[in-house]
Amino acid sequence: MQKTIHDISLLGGHPALDFVNTVDSRGESWGPEFLNTYDDLVVWARRADLIDDKERDVLLAKAGKPGSHAENALEQAKKLREALCRLFLSESNVVSIRQNDLELVDGMARRALAQQSLGCAGSKIVWHRADAKDLAAISNRIAQIATDLLTAREGRRPIRACEGPNCGWLFLDQSRGGHRRWCSDKTCGSHARVRKFRAARAD
Ligand SMILES: [Zn+2]
Repeated sequence: MQKTIHDISLLGGHPALDFVNTVDSRGESWGPEFLNTYDDLVVWARRADLIDDKERDVLLAKAGKPGSHAENALEQAKKLREALCRLFLSESNVVSIRQNDLELVDGMARRALAQQSLGCAGSKIVWHRADAKDLAAISNRIAQIATDLLTAREGRRPIRACEGPNCGWLFLDQSRGGHRRWCSDKTCGSHARVRKFRAARAD
């Protein structure tokens, strides 16, 4: 069965990586695309816990109004996704860092930060974020959490791209040896074992 935004795996180890993984394959063939409508973006953001139920309902209602510019908000989200993909891949020197990509992420992340206020939760001092009310809120939040990952390279595990020929999904390599090659052992890892086995039999 063809997967959809409702059931694709969230296995990147960070929501910003899972967001990049909303394209089924970046390998030999690109696609299919899982973000086909603004509602798909909202569904994904709820699954990734970037918005709550109330925010989901507000955004869906707003997007459904005539002349809502939801399509434009979706295009912006996809632009962010591709910029993030290139920036994360720059970590393994697959592509170089583009200034345009940094500026896009910077602008969106700043808008998310501007929606926050410093407050307290019990004895802790925390950032409170305002409810997501405008259609750009999801992209802005993704950009903000992505900057946490982008700027923390020294203190975290490496980001890798799955080596599956029809995959390319990104993940944080939390494996003990730090040599994880597949997004999942059950899918790309097992396909690779089958290929290896067939190649060995053909010899
Ligand atoms: Zn894979």
